[in-house]
Amino acid sequence: MTALDLEGALPLLCSFTLPVHAHKLFTYRVPGAMAGRARPGVRAILPVGRGTKVGVLVERDVPPFPGDGVLRDVERILDREPVIGAHLLGVLLDAAVYYHHPAGLAVESALPPGKTSSHAVRYGITDAGHDLLASGSARDLDRRLLELVSGGAKTLVQLARHAPLAGQAQIDDMIKRGLVNTAQTGRGARVEKILRLLRMPGAGERTPGEVGKKVLEALGRTDGVTLSALRRSLPVPDSTIRSLVARGLVEVRTDSAWMSVELTSDAFSSAYQDPPGQLTSHQKQAVATINNAIARGGFSPFLLHGITGSGKTEVYIHAIRSVLRAGRSAVVLVPEIALTPQLVAMFRSRVGEEIAILHSALPLARRRAQWDSIRSGQRRVVIGARSAVFAPVRDPGIFVVDEEHDTSFKQGEMFRYHARDLSLLRAQREGAAVILGSATPAMESFHNALGGKYGLLTLPERATTQPLPEVEVVDLRIHRSGPAGQPFVSGVLYRAIEETLAHGGQIILFLNRRGFAPAATCTSCGEPVRCPECSVALVHHRFTDRLSCHYCGHSRDVPATCPGCGAGGDAMELVGPGTERIEQIVSDLFPRARVLRMDSDVASGTAAEPILRAMREKRADILVGTQMVTKGHDLPGVALVGVVRADMGMSMPDFRAAERTFQMLTQVAGRAGRGDVPGRVILQTYNPEHPCIDAARSQDYQTFYTWELAHRRATGYPPYTHLALVKLSGPDEQAAARGAAELGIILGPGPSRVLGPVSSPLARLRGRFRHQIMLKADSRRDVRRSLELLPDPTWALSQGLRSSVDVDPLDFL
Ligand code: ADP
Ligand code: ZN
Repeated sequence: MTALDLEGALPLLCSFTLPVHAHKLFTYRVPGAMAGRARPGVRAILPVGRGTKVGVLVERDVPPFPGDGVLRDVERILDREPVIGAHLLGVLLDAAVYYHHPAGLAVESALPPGKTSSHAVRYGITDAGHDLLASGSARDLDRRLLELVSGGAKTLVQLARHAPLAGQAQIDDMIKRGLVNTAQTGRGARVEKILRLLRMPGAGERTPGEVGKKVLEALGRTDGVTLSALRRSLPVPDSTIRSLVARGLVEVRTDSAWMSVELTSDAFSSAYQDPPGQLTSHQKQAVATINNAIARGGFSPFLLHGITGSGKTEVYIHAIRSVLRAGRSAVVLVPEIALTPQLVAMFRSRVGEEIAILHSALPLARRRAQWDSIRSGQRRVVIGARSAVFAPVRDPGIFVVDEEHDTSFKQGEMFRYHARDLSLLRAQREGAAVILGSATPAMESFHNALGGKYGLLTLPERATTQPLPEVEVVDLRIHRSGPAGQPFVSGVLYRAIEETLAHGGQIILFLNRRGFAPAATCTSCGEPVRCPECSVALVHHRFTDRLSCHYCGHSRDVPATCPGCGAGGDAMELVGPGTERIEQIVSDLFPRARVLRMDSDVASGTAAEPILRAMREKRADILVGTQMVTKGHDLPGVALVGVVRADMGMSMPDFRAAERTFQMLTQVAGRAGRGDVPGRVILQTYNPEHPCIDAARSQDYQTFYTWELAHRRATGYPPYTHLALVKLSGPDEQAAARGAAELGIILGPGPSRVLGPVSSPLARLRGRFRHQIMLKADSRRDVRRSLELLPDPTWALSQGLRSSVDVDPLDFL
């Protein structure tokens, strides 16, 4: 036999990712008949144990790995064409290493929407499930799981995270008993309904039962609320809702369900058909620089630092048009697509061709159609939230990350990637331009720009006629109580609202806390009512008149006596402001004003759009809302922005607390005076001397950046260092603490500094005790080398614990 014959007889070996918790690739033999289709990026059915799994081919023709043992044959190759392009596959594999996430699970993020993804199957609650939950007789694990799914359908992975004992067998058993179903499949295929009460004469007497009465009472206190928000604080079976509807007492509006952004953005498109005249000189300069880079080709990242209202969107559009002319494609990432119908409308009417919108609320079939149209090259412009960074675009020439500082670009669970950072990584491989746009760039981004890693483009002036609004700070320590004795809307803010209304202007009131009051506190012992499962106070919601936990969904009535000290009578007091309370106060103070509220209780998903449209069309005067109102909206009628508590987030146990506060204040202030009337901003605070309030007053990013950077240098935080957060949690306090201590010892010899283990700021969550260790190093490489010391996740699982790794963490709770 000649050497050639021998080679011909050798089977083709290829490496694959598998969706399992292992940080490695797997080698399989590819039978001759399939060899032609064996290309990187195709999916294949692979034998694993006694079953099969779908994997993705990474490399063709690899040498056998010593110790692989007997290699098994690929069962089937599923795709004729790769579903993941070579560059994207490379990005995913690099990211898996960087974020310390199993490669096979990271790769899943880029697979076409459909059932090959292990995230796809969601379990929802049935009527029987609701009835059992409402009856209060459900047993431990059943109750836990029913509570979880009653807030919206969940995947098994999500359920297992909150109820560690839950497994497929348990769920299957509950399906058999009719408590849950799989009716809702596909990521985000959730149907949101808005409920509205119809006031029927004599409704009170004919209400069906206790729960029905509570529902009617709750709905009577609102103008409409989503079903899941209602259920977050009041467990209601579908049967009750149905019976209320049948009696004509409740109206269910289903139209805004997953109404596609394509439709909702139509509502705005008339406003944006025409380009706004000439580009300003700063816009022109920015566009010219970017176009140059696009013409040259190759990786070229830019930070577009433009104040609020400076017209960053115009710059994006011009750059995208150049990319399309060059025959390439474009990806636009936005923080939350449901909150940005205007931006989508603008792109749709201005880029000159059909764009693809990736939206998690689209039904599976629609999402799949969008994905196909992108993969085939039929649609060359993609707009979407963070996961759009994995869109299967052909030859992307530009990645735009709008509001690049926004924390929603970081995935908070499972594969904890940052879409901004991955867009840079991908652009590097694809040879593309990147525009990171923001009025308040992340410290890291501005640092990179000043250090020459990104080109810095600046838009220092508003594109429209109005300058930045004037900002006034109200010291709440002096202005103790406002009109009608309430302490939340000061006299200064009250008069400003009054004047603005008199001139026909609109008003935004911002407070980053939903509900009525952040706590129900005992006046005798001073203790708030806490969640039995989490170390947080329960939040009072007026529309249900109940307390609920914003972390786990536990809810209860306001107790008559203090659960801590037993004081009775009027001991329990609702302390502090939430959006519901502010809405009520301004409605009482200004009875003629039309007041709307926007927070996740009334405006989850696309339900935000009608609220924004009402503001835009001047059908409302005052909008009260959480950070949802800060997200880049362009509402020209808004003349006044009031911030109810400017220092609310400042005391968070997070080294970025000041940065967050400054960003939020600057962004919300930027909503004022975008049209023809000058804007005015009032910040109410107990902490007026704080540098970030001061910087927000002058809306001066540079001053804030310089101050904060000095602080970061002194304390050794990013951008001067690199961090990873290792978390460990478990239902047993001792075991969790012991496990964390052990991890600390394991990480000790690594090149990173090991801070902790300490109890997490949110020390208990959903009944689990939480500990964390922070790794701090001068280089990313050192962080990675330390993480390599970690035992794999089964180490924790075998002790009844769960561990997670968050590289470049943004969340320290
Ligand atoms: P940013 O995202 O920077 O806050 P936008 O892109 O929303 O700002 O633009 C703010 C407003 O300015 C929009 O109404 C937009 O139509 C308008 N605009 C943008 N560029 C120009 C221009 N060159 N001339 C006039 N108006 C402009
Ligand atoms: Zn809780």
